[in-house]
Amino acid sequence: MTVNLLDFDLEGLAGFCEQLGEKRFRAVQLFRWIHQKGASRFEEMTDLAKSLREKLPSVCTVSGLPVLSRQDSADGTIKWLFDVGDGNAVETVFIPEDDRGTLCVSSQAGCAVGCRFCSTGHQGFSRNLTTGEILAQLWYAEHYLRRHLGTADRVITNVVMMGMGEPLQNYGALVPALRVMLDDHGYGLSRRRVTVSTSGVVPMIDRLAKDCPVALAVSLHATNDALRDVLVPLNRKYPIAELLDACLRYLPAAPRDFITFEYCMLDGVNDQPEHARELLALLRQHAGRGVPAKVNLIPFNPFPDSGLKCSPRPVVLRFGQILNEGGIVTTVRKTRGDDIDAACGQLAGDVLDRTNAARRLAQRRVDSVHPIRVVPLARHSRNEEDPA
Ligand code: SF4
Repeated sequence: MTVNLLDFDLEGLAGFCEQLGEKRFRAVQLFRWIHQKGASRFEEMTDLAKSLREKLPSVCTVSGLPVLSRQDSADGTIKWLFDVGDGNAVETVFIPEDDRGTLCVSSQAGCAVGCRFCSTGHQGFSRNLTTGEILAQLWYAEHYLRRHLGTADRVITNVVMMGMGEPLQNYGALVPALRVMLDDHGYGLSRRRVTVSTSGVVPMIDRLAKDCPVALAVSLHATNDALRDVLVPLNRKYPIAELLDACLRYLPAAPRDFITFEYCMLDGVNDQPEHARELLALLRQHAGRGVPAKVNLIPFNPFPDSGLKCSPRPVVLRFGQILNEGGIVTTVRKTRGDDIDAACGQLAGDVLDRTNAARRLAQRRVDSVHPIRVVPLARHSRNEEDPA
């Protein structure tokens, strides 16, 4: 099988070049051509030795992903659907703002976590993406945008691993991809501007702290285990207290001095003032010292058959006000790209589900809409933003 150079971080590429009898500086040259200039044809890499340019096509390629579609939102958001083979497709979203350009990148075809409010989770899981498939999304989007805008300057300033999939369940492919994003010979993004969002894979949070600490966002969505077990099934394995302990262990390595907690606002499910006060207590008092945190409230984006509704705006604002008054900086995420179904929680490529998740979730939807609404609170105690 031909080697795809998008699968390598710089160390990997240096090792590959070594196998070809080439020195490390050749790997740096190749890496820069690929990631900084968007080149895929070796003959255009003019500072490589001619003999190497002639040798490379027989042993490797630079292969992006076929684009199945592109949708442009009225607000400037762009969504691509990339073909990853065997009937699977993943989505990638670019969100432009005045002071930054953020790319939301997928890590898996589908997702096995099966969060109750997430369109991807309802599709089930097919497979992990390779490092090359994760990077191909950034590689394509960055160079498409430069051509489109007629600039040689960097357009994508932030990457969030918040597309389809749980990135920490694809750890082996994720970390080399992150390294390419951070590498000065690659995309040169600062650690603060690359965010991994996780539903709470505790052991991998610890590994990420050692291997490649970038900004961490935790999809919390509930304030007690009874409710989170239903909304984020991974909670049954790694309950809230263990997750917050992992956050505390992560912080010394993190590029920011807080963890971002994402909280999807679901009408009548997790959006009441009591929930806000419980969340406040959780974040302020966990382990006796609290977890330095920012909270991002995400208005739920309904999708067909979700059986859930978005909290009314005044309810969202009241929730945020309680947190802000309690000393936790809280913002409400602006909905972007909702006219092209590119908003948070709406990503849903085409997935050949190998897990029967869609069937199980459909069953759970029938069984649990009402139980979700009456889950009691625990008696004690996981951009483009508007201040709440
Ligand atoms: S919210 Fe994230 S972890 Fe949960 S199902 Fe969706 S993609 Fe997976």
